[in-house]
Amino acid sequence: MVIAYIALGSNLNQPVQQLNAAIEAMAVLPQTQVLAVSSFYRSKPLGPQDQPDYVNAVAKLQTELAPLALLDALQQIENQQGRVRLRHWGERTLDLDILLYGQRVIQSERLTIPHYDMRNREFVIIPLYEIDSDLILPDGVKLSDLMKNIKNNKMTLVIQNK
Ligand code: ATP
Ligand code: MG
Ligand code: MG
Repeated sequence: MVIAYIALGSNLNQPVQQLNAAIEAMAVLPQTQVLAVSSFYRSKPLGPQDQPDYVNAVAKLQTELAPLALLDALQQIENQQGRVRLRHWGERTLDLDILLYGQRVIQSERLTIPHYDMRNREFVIIPLYEIDSDLILPDGVKLSDLMKNIKNNKMTLVIQNK
């Protein structure tokens, strides 16, 4: 049993509903439970600016799925929710990225864990910190120290998690 953290993002076709549908889909994956979900935040896009703002959140899973099986399952959910790949960092109905998979470090063709850019993204660090403020990355870096690097948080709250 491993704890994995998933970043969710959407900027097409009712993003809040896309995130809620993705959370429900993750909750019914085999050998997997959703332990926690952060608040939902609105953020500016990475890359092309001629696209809608994103809604982002982070979910904490407990799973027995192996890393690649989890990636397959998440990509299936992205596809079920109509994800079409048009341009790099372009608009999408749903993006599900594996941020952390226990304390594992993985570098393979299909998978880089921890997520290669997670420590630079406020829409990842802030919701992750909300779920587990005492998290420590596999290289020993404290999430609380990454939080200190986020100076001007430009996100707005969409749905406050209870
Ligand atoms: P970014 O990774 O910068 O957030 P993106 O999420 O838009 O960009 P995608 O098009 O969703 O990128 O994914 C491209 C590929 O990234 C996937 O096909 C997958 O194999 C690979 N990948 C590598 N590491 C991960 C990870 N930790 N989580 C999800 N996908 C990953
Ligand atoms: Mg992504
Ligand atoms: Mg992705």
